[in-house]
Amino acid sequence: MPTIKERIQAVQTSVAQAAQKAGRSDVELIAVSKTHPPEALLQALHEGLTLFGENKVQEARAKIPLLPGRARWHFIGHLQRNKVRHLLALPFELLHGIDSLELAREIDRVAADTGAHPRILLEVNLAAESSKFGFNPANLRPALDSLLALSRLQIEGLMTIPPLAPEPEHSRRYFAALRSLRDEIQQEFRLPLPVLSMGMSADFPVAIEEGATLVRVGSAIFGHRSGPGWRPTADSSMLD
Ligand SMILES: *Cc1c(COP(=O)(O)O)cnc(C)c1O
Repeated sequence: MPTIKERIQAVQTSVAQAAQKAGRSDVELIAVSKTHPPEALLQALHEGLTLFGENKVQEARAKIPLLPGRARWHFIGHLQRNKVRHLLALPFELLHGIDSLELAREIDRVAADTGAHPRILLEVNLAAESSKFGFNPANLRPALDSLLALSRLQIEGLMTIPPLAPEPEHSRRYFAALRSLRDEIQQEFRLPLPVLSMGMSADFPVAIEEGATLVRVGSAIFGHRSGPGWRPTADSSMLD
């Protein structure tokens, strides 16, 4: 069994190789730490990873205070509207999974209340899978005028989770499609969208070759997630 240290080194090497191959220097690795205990995150911090991805408000709320302040956090999960207020109280730098106009409106409304200017990515469901969240690519443009009117939100880019595939190469066309969609929207709406969040453990090198600026890597760093994962010991069962 490789250690976390060995896994991190292997992932960092792959990220660097893919970035070099693509002539890129703007790729950042998110260590997807959902379900893993704070001790595992501390180990990753010790190995030089500082950016973590969590996908549950309750888990993040319990975990974040247990890590040193230099840890940085992205929210990568599906967000329910009734959790927005709890989420915005946490120090997430970027919210990846904004998947509907209704959710965006709620975040804008709560942010106006709390004085926040959340940075967000719009999640796109490229294959229009019914099992997945996200804007259908055909609906994104019509939604954008309304999204851009939400003055608290800073829309920084797009995020996608392609259909499950047996081979990383099968995901390439989805990654390329997200980049094209981003390029088109940028032009059409004169809206800078520098961030492309795409690629996970199985396919992040391909995603980097196709333009990913953020890769979300969990199991390749922390090992497989099994069982219910880490739970805060006390209270807070009224969330999630
Ligand atoms: C869990 C998760 C990941 C990481 O998946 P791995 O296959 O373990 O790398 C990436 N993105 C999202 C949105 C996730 O929920």
